Amino acid sequence: AETPVHAFMDGEIYGFANNNAYKDYGGTIILKHEIIDSKFHISSEFQELHDTQNSKLKTQNLVFYTLYGHLSVDSLVGLFVGKTFKKGDKLAELGHPHENGGWSPHLHFQILLDTLGNTSDFIGVGLPSEIEVWSSICPDPNLLFKDPNLSNVQTKTDKDLVAYRKAHLGKSLSLSYTEPLKILRGELQYLIDAQGRKYLDTVNNVAHVGHEHPSVVKAGQAQMAVLNTNTRYLHADILDFAAALLDTFPPELSVVHFMNSGSEANELALRMAQVATNQKDMIALEVGYHGNTNGCIAISSYKFNGKGGKGQPETTHIVPLPDSFRGKYQGDLSETGALYAAHIQEAIDAIHAKGKGVAGFIAESIVSCGGQIDLPDNYLKLAYAAVRKAGGLCIADEVQTGFGRVGKHFWGFELQGVVPDIVTMGKPIGNGHPLAAVVCTRAVSDAFANGMEYFNTFGGNPVSCAIGLEVLNVIKRENLQYNAFIVGEYLKNALNLMKNKLPLIGDVRGQGLFLGFELVEKGKIPATAKTNYLADRMKEHGILMSVDGPQNNVLKIKPPMCFTIENAELMLHYLEKVMSENFMKM
Ligand code: PMP
Repeated sequence: AETPVHAFMDGEIYGFANNNAYKDYGGTIILKHEIIDSKFHISSEFQELHDTQNSKLKTQNLVFYTLYGHLSVDSLVGLFVGKTFKKGDKLAELGHPHENGGWSPHLHFQILLDTLGNTSDFIGVGLPSEIEVWSSICPDPNLLFKDPNLSNVQTKTDKDLVAYRKAHLGKSLSLSYTEPLKILRGELQYLIDAQGRKYLDTVNNVAHVGHEHPSVVKAGQAQMAVLNTNTRYLHADILDFAAALLDTFPPELSVVHFMNSGSEANELALRMAQVATNQKDMIALEVGYHGNTNGCIAISSYKFNGKGGKGQPETTHIVPLPDSFRGKYQGDLSETGALYAAHIQEAIDAIHAKGKGVAGFIAESIVSCGGQIDLPDNYLKLAYAAVRKAGGLCIADEVQTGFGRVGKHFWGFELQGVVPDIVTMGKPIGNGHPLAAVVCTRAVSDAFANGMEYFNTFGGNPVSCAIGLEVLNVIKRENLQYNAFIVGEYLKNALNLMKNKLPLIGDVRGQGLFLGFELVEKGKIPATAKTNYLADRMKEHGILMSVDGPQNNVLKIKPPMCFTIENAELMLHYLEKVMSENFMKM
């Protein structure tokens, strides 16, 4: 504020005003400039505009205007239309927030080739869809200053980026949405695209405590500036992080290994189970997903029975997805647990019949790729008992469900009242930084340590540990588990009320901020097209949602944990709106 603004070339007052609405310009001046015979050096782009102006105006002179916004109101005193300014004359001073529209003091400088009939105001921001119109009237101001620091850095169009991806990135990578999003910034529960549009994010559970959470960023930056090595040196951070993490577990789970991704965590868990039991055979859930490595794909029926999959490996035994809405046994969660768990014993018997033993059983505590499937009551209790009786180990994949997301508990397995032998975690643990962990019992860890070193170059490095520790701190400090519970309950109740009104919503499930609802036609026929339509329309309203489930008819809700009641209300408002559109009623 109060920084003087000087005329950058000769001109005269064309108009001025105090545009005093909130977020308007406050003190505003428009100068008119005339370049006689174009002696002024103008760039080729400008020259072209000049030439078209000239042909229109039938004059040799270039006339254009410059607008100055967010000035002090005092700057307007003594001005009159036609008052001239020489290059270098003091024109005005920057205004304080109380008089500049409520902004941090700055200058809004804009070139106008035509005032479009305005005298003391002109549109200063526009819709992305109108960019060609506005930039033809208001050329890049840096044509006048030629300051490399002010040059427009965006040189590649979205089409260029898509073309390069197609040509040079693996074909099996996918892009979300028909019109892909170009997200350039994250801010807690929001993502912001290249045009500055803010989206409410209900998809990215990786950004657990919020996209680019300032204190997590700071912790990472600070440690990165000091040291990043590996676990072969003594460092307090890895131990502080290990202690803080273990503190969230029941005392039996007392040993931790660090790595970089959920896949790596499950890969290690598989090796642990196989080494500790000296067996190979694993039991896993139908439509389960546990990662992208060979070992993980081999236990992920979502993959090996999906597109491009090569079917079930001999050492994998798949049990039915315990989906009480559309699965093999339907009904209340209190009734289906034993029925589904009986299939675990069936798998164990099949393994024994081949003369082999059980290495382990792996399951998520709410099955995410299955479509946010709540496990029926006692399911894990019965499953774990059967597996342990057969000598196998029980692995809880908490990559999606951990770190307070389910609200009532810090870990998803606690919903089932069990204690696993091995717990794997990833995604939220580093809030987007590549970090993952396996926590297991002392017995498992000792059995695994058969002499072969477990070295992981990046796993447990001081930067990752500083970040992981701060994520745990933020969860506590900001009471995010409690928030997940409160906002999750609110959302689930509201969705259930909506379900009572709209038969299209067949089922609402999940816990805390790990929810899903399934869209169905009469007779539970999956409403896949409507589910995709809903997600696309929600995106148009600025809300990102993801679709999953074996029939792609489940909308998943797993936002950053700082998601508020107001965010939930906004989402519900648009859900209701889109649900009433013709396409959804057909
Ligand atoms: N387990 C589950 C349940 C997952 O959802 C995922 C990732 N979607 C993984 C494991 C693998 O994690 P990552 O992609 O970090 O390797």
